[in-house]
Amino acid sequence: MSTFPPPAGSPLALARPEIVQLVPYEHAAWEPSLVRLHANELPWRASSDSTAAGLNRYPEPQPQALVQRLAALYGVSPRAVLVGRGSDEGIDLLTRAFCRAGRDSVIVCPPTFGMYAVAARIQGAEVVRVPLAAEHGFALDANAILERCADAVKIVFVCSPNNPTGNLMDESVLLQLAARLVGRALLVIDEAYVEFAGAPSLARHVAQYSHLVVLRTLSKAHGLAGARCGTTIAAPEIIATLRKIIPPYALTQLTIEAVLAALQPAALAVAQERLRTLRTERERLTAALRSSRAVRRVWRSDANFVLAEFVDATAAFTRARAAGLLVRDVRSQPGLGDALRITLGTPEQNERLLDALDCLPARATTR
Ligand code: PMP
Repeated sequence: MSTFPPPAGSPLALARPEIVQLVPYEHAAWEPSLVRLHANELPWRASSDSTAAGLNRYPEPQPQALVQRLAALYGVSPRAVLVGRGSDEGIDLLTRAFCRAGRDSVIVCPPTFGMYAVAARIQGAEVVRVPLAAEHGFALDANAILERCADAVKIVFVCSPNNPTGNLMDESVLLQLAARLVGRALLVIDEAYVEFAGAPSLARHVAQYSHLVVLRTLSKAHGLAGARCGTTIAAPEIIATLRKIIPPYALTQLTIEAVLAALQPAALAVAQERLRTLRTERERLTAALRSSRAVRRVWRSDANFVLAEFVDATAAFTRARAAGLLVRDVRSQPGLGDALRITLGTPEQNERLLDALDCLPARATTR
């Protein structure tokens, strides 16, 4: 059991006391060299099972090979890593571990990814909204966050690059915010799209700030959304606390094996090449949309999507759909006007979209 109350300066002083004191479920011992007659599994594989370890066995909780691999990928200590079912699970675990229902709150900065507020509401925590500064390219308003950061606020969620606006937040502003939130609230930076920005991750500062949490995912730049694998990077005492509440067998054996294969050097090289292609496509799509009279504004994006304000978003959405292409209608989000969020596809898919929206340069007529 963790020390209670947590020592002065520990980020666990912000956590729910009952979680800090919780004695977690004790899963069956993980001793792969021994025959497993201790977990009530079947000794035979299903006939269709082609996994290396066998789906008849429970998977290794927090699989060490995967934790080590992700720690190396993100340049952090394995003790700072918790692997789970996407960043979504990290958001959920943090909210459940740090927010007491009916008492605590989180800060979110809209327009932003909706799961932070949903996770808070599921947990019974209040949601305090500190809007991004639309007039400054959706920059973070750090002073407003600090002003609204009352005692009840346990988590400040920041998405960088932000979904759906696409902009990377200024690193110096994030670090100043981290410095000023010491002892007050966790600062959770969701870097789901950071690979597309080509910017360094804030994960390298987690060892310095014990209340800084960075979320990374394999769902975006690594093309593994279907595998459900995300990493929470934080101080070891936070990771140990989240481990108490994550289900013991969160990752399936299928995911563990698929992800380890996808993180081999050859697969990483392919991912890098695709990143370069997407960055070029982002510039091409942005320029083509900007040149169209049907488009009012296209925001500069550091992610794998582009946010564009249309003269008539309904018409643009309908035209894309008629061409078999789905884009995201984000008009219900405050401050976005008549905007659609367009995820970058293959060059051919992007061409089809531009064609459907009538944004391709007029073709020269040939005889
Ligand atoms: N964070 C952001 C900003 C996202 O946009 C998304 C997915 N849309 C997620 C997290 C969730 O990603 P994952 O697949 O890792 O759960």
